[in-house]
Amino acid sequence: MPEKKEKFYLTTPIYYTNGLPHIGHTYTTVVADVVRRYKRMRGYDVVMTTGTDEHGVNVERAAQKAGVPESEYVAKMADAWRALWDELGIPADEFVRTTDLKHVRTVQWLFKLCKENGYVYKGHYTGQYCIYDNAFVNDAKPGDNCPDCGRPLETITEENYFFKLSSFQKPLLDFYKKNPSFIQPDTRRNEIISFVEGGLRDLSITRTTIRWGIPVPGEEPHVFYVWFDALTAYLSAVGGPEYEKRGYWPADLHLVGKDIIRFHTVYWPAFLMAAMLPAPKQVWAHGWFLMDTAKMSKSKGNVVLPRPIVNMLGMDALRYFLLRDVVFGQDGNFSYDALVTRYNSDLANGLGNLASRTAALIEKNFAGKIPKPDALKPQDEVLAKEAQAAIGEVLENFDKLSFARALETIWTVIAAADKYLTSEQPWALGNSEAEQSRKSTVLWTTAELLRIVSALAFPVLPDSAAKVWTLLGQSDALGKFELDGLRWGQLAVGTSLGKSQTLFPRVDKTEAIERIEAMANEELNPTPAIPAPAASAPTATGTSAAAAAAPAVSDKIGIEDFAKVEMRVGQIKTAERIVGADKLLKLTVDIGTEIRQICAGIAQYYEPESLIGRKVAVVVNLAPRKLRGVESNGMIVAASVGPEGRPVLTGFHEEVEVGARLK
Ligand SMILES: [Zn+2]
Repeated sequence: MPEKKEKFYLTTPIYYTNGLPHIGHTYTTVVADVVRRYKRMRGYDVVMTTGTDEHGVNVERAAQKAGVPESEYVAKMADAWRALWDELGIPADEFVRTTDLKHVRTVQWLFKLCKENGYVYKGHYTGQYCIYDNAFVNDAKPGDNCPDCGRPLETITEENYFFKLSSFQKPLLDFYKKNPSFIQPDTRRNEIISFVEGGLRDLSITRTTIRWGIPVPGEEPHVFYVWFDALTAYLSAVGGPEYEKRGYWPADLHLVGKDIIRFHTVYWPAFLMAAMLPAPKQVWAHGWFLMDTAKMSKSKGNVVLPRPIVNMLGMDALRYFLLRDVVFGQDGNFSYDALVTRYNSDLANGLGNLASRTAALIEKNFAGKIPKPDALKPQDEVLAKEAQAAIGEVLENFDKLSFARALETIWTVIAAADKYLTSEQPWALGNSEAEQSRKSTVLWTTAELLRIVSALAFPVLPDSAAKVWTLLGQSDALGKFELDGLRWGQLAVGTSLGKSQTLFPRVDKTEAIERIEAMANEELNPTPAIPAPAASAPTATGTSAAAAAAPAVSDKIGIEDFAKVEMRVGQIKTAERIVGADKLLKLTVDIGTEIRQICAGIAQYYEPESLIGRKVAVVVNLAPRKLRGVESNGMIVAASVGPEGRPVLTGFHEEVEVGARLK
């Protein structure tokens, strides 16, 4: 009889939709994904929730500014957030939107329970209000000006529903005492305890001055205000009023930024206690990534975006850096320099190099089959012991969310294997029986170590660890492998190696940083799409997919319009692939008067070497622009063939001079 799996439920915050995700949001969601993958490998039935917080006056305003109804505005934002998580390979199991009907019902149900149990009453809220922005300004004093529009604020009193937070001082303190690991890390726990000990004031949970919110049933125009709405999303995601049927509540882990820990560890358990519902088991507050020691924010212009990093180095590199460089729970400094340095040292030269070296040696010496280990020397046994010990240590650290420690342990083992290979020198061994047997032992040992390392690293490096796993000929999906069964010595002799793949191509630091920054700049300040050249039978491949996909222009143009496009014969001098851009080739092209760098979207159809010396038609008077962070100064003209738009370069059947103008 199959054992019923234990459930594990974790959440990221329900992100506020007033902008797009930056590295801070990405960090929390990556951590959630790492925990999810890890727990699955420990045999749990895991659900991870993220989502979007879509109510409130800021959304009301943003929608107004965009000239669309709120529902349309938030639907677009939610789609964009969901799409980015999908693109980054960290999709939620449950993506909850606070405008979902199931969430609306859950909030109204929770309110009803709190009210029935006597913890909600009608009162009056007095605050400083901007009549132009239709919003209360929290923490403003009478006489202050509006921080948004600068106009004087007015003191306004409105009818609100209040939650009797003051009744929960003792129950909360008792709860913290009984559940010492509820608030993590411990420094945050102490902060919260002294905050609660200082006394709690009742909390206004509805507004009549906001329109865009969940209505309080039978009490219109009251709508729920911020936290009573947003926090409840964790419960709506796993069944709401019917949570018992799905069995994931109470949550095992809420991951939050340190700025919202109070709401999660004071308000949220109090709301649930008032409704006689179980409180979550743990809230973990992580620090912020600082850019030059300042908190990242859109207004400061120091935002780091995930996509450019992923395009350049891959998602695993970003995941590794975020978890390796900062102790979870503390603030960390984000710098591209540190990111690329880590990438080159730990991933390209570390794991990537060890895997490709080992596979190449097994390929060469044992026809690609895992060799049989023979008599062991002490150094083989030392390495085996170290790898076996690492298993326990890594699992223990993952359990404590000590990701940096876990990765440090894994990479210590990788470094030891590197050293071992270097001193054993299997490549220098000959073909005598003794030497052949030594070679087998050394390569089996290294391969077995790689198998263990890739299983342990999988939660953090799902893509590349799986590649190493496949390279070692392991056929079962690594994500479903049970870590509890991982032991030294399981690598089967005779297993055929899988296909070798590039793991982490080394990058030049300065160039990589320049390109990441250029791509980030493109994303933050998008240039309007360049219109396709009017005479558009051939497609200009230098403009990337956007222009290539533009519909054919059928309106006729005058000769003067065509004359604006300057096309010349160019000769390709060099051509190379671009790391992180599968479709682009970087070309240098002689156009007679100068040599230009041009990017062309032809990498899937042309081998770089085949292009050297070829003459092509070039649009030379196009404004320079960056494609995937690489400067492109001009366009190569190509026909677009077939439904997939395969580019076919133009050519000349007679000798033409480089630089000749096309008319
Ligand atoms: Zn104002």
